[in-house]
Amino acid sequence: MSQNIRVRFAPSPTGPLHIGGVRTALYNYLFAKKHGGTFILRIEDTDQTRYVDGAEDYIIQALKWLGLNPDEGPGIGGDFGPYRQSERKNLYKQYAEQLIENGYAYYAFDTPEELDAMRKREEEKGFHSAKYDHRIRMQMRNSLTLLEEECKSLIEEGQNVTVRLKIPQNEEVAFDDIVRERVVFSTDELDDKIILKKDGMPTYHLANIVDDHLMEISHVIRGEEWLSSTAHHVLMYKFFGWEPPKFTHLPLLLKPTGKGKLSKRDGAKFGFPVFPMEWQEDELYLGFKEEGFDPEAVLNFLVLLGWNPGNDEEIMDRERMIELFSLEKIIKSGARFDIEKAYWFNQQYIIASSNEALIEVVKEALGEDIVSEYDDEFLLQFIHLMKERVKSINDFKSEGAFFFEMPGSYDEKQVRKRYSPDLDEHFESINRIIHTHDGDAASLADAVKSYLNENELKMGVYLPLLRIMLCGSMKGPDLFEIIRLLGVEIVNDRIAKALNAFKSIG
Ligand code: GLU
Repeated sequence: MSQNIRVRFAPSPTGPLHIGGVRTALYNYLFAKKHGGTFILRIEDTDQTRYVDGAEDYIIQALKWLGLNPDEGPGIGGDFGPYRQSERKNLYKQYAEQLIENGYAYYAFDTPEELDAMRKREEEKGFHSAKYDHRIRMQMRNSLTLLEEECKSLIEEGQNVTVRLKIPQNEEVAFDDIVRERVVFSTDELDDKIILKKDGMPTYHLANIVDDHLMEISHVIRGEEWLSSTAHHVLMYKFFGWEPPKFTHLPLLLKPTGKGKLSKRDGAKFGFPVFPMEWQEDELYLGFKEEGFDPEAVLNFLVLLGWNPGNDEEIMDRERMIELFSLEKIIKSGARFDIEKAYWFNQQYIIASSNEALIEVVKEALGEDIVSEYDDEFLLQFIHLMKERVKSINDFKSEGAFFFEMPGSYDEKQVRKRYSPDLDEHFESINRIIHTHDGDAASLADAVKSYLNENELKMGVYLPLLRIMLCGSMKGPDLFEIIRLLGVEIVNDRIAKALNAFKSIG
């Protein structure tokens, strides 16, 4: 690609970054990196009524956690700033005026009441979604219907002054989309969208294309929900005489089951995260970070929701994703969000990480109270034993708690099935073997097993019970590795306490 590649991720700070937004950011990032281009973060905050406190900071922190670091953006700098649209407010007006001068836009002075009345009239005539368009505009109060003098004084008064696009009648608007191919709209489907609001702020449409032009954006890669707006955008590029960027509209992320777009409600309903990090709103929404995901695993999971490299390669690190990524391989149909698959990726990343690479995040998950009691040597060994058994970093704590404290309870069903007090004397012998044997886990296993064999005792009774004594349940890594890591004192103590407790389970 010979052109200078410049792409932007342009979220509106109206809430936290949804996982679909993260995918949009990721595809922009990968495309930029692949072509030696520039990845820009632009905050589209012109809709003051929908502004949510903390959302911009959330977006920046989430991108940072995922390592999707913009080359230009708020707080980063670059030659095309400012990168927050509210700071560019004064720049947009002249573009709206330019369109008015050239007959592509007009002032509209309608009050909310007048607009409501128009909608009512239209509904009565049987038009369900009344649009302010070529059919309606000549019945309204705007610079096309009022005298010049009247307009001037209304503009001076400054109330309800908006600027609307003048969409031509009965024309075709067509553009090429890398995913959707040729997309054609009739201008008769389009309304005279407001481009400058009465508060002087541009709407998304004007600010978005002015900035894409001024920031020399070469490719617009965004969610499918913006496809229909693109018709207005392409017309505006034509009105300005600007070359439009190349468009790519990404398929929707679908609910895990049934129809429709993945929503934050699905996450709350099924108990899985749909946000990269936790977000507190009317309730607390889970985040991949707090649920113990490796950010690289999240990216790997997401890259395949809507794209694939054309073969069945699944595990791809960042470098590999960059190497393989292409817009042409984005798929048209919606991609189903499957949290189990996300956990599977996470598990693969945890297994593939070295113990040393995991220690800091595992420490964080275990918490200071536990960490302060153990040295790194113990924790590295713990990670080594647990790594293949966890789906998330948090599982190190929930599944491995018995390494740090007595089991809170015992699997009573298994105890009832296998235990009787006449086994006690053999457990005391096993306890002695553990105490006196000084070999590694494997040789300790041999010693215990030969004791059981010599005394014609069943492995399937003693070993599961021994595990329950130490871990509380039948789950966990190799029993003798656990014994070695816990150390003889703790093991002896737990066996004694368990033998006591088992007697009251019956
Ligand atoms: N501000 C829009 C959003 O919130 C940007 C859409 C676009 O990329 O053009 O998604």
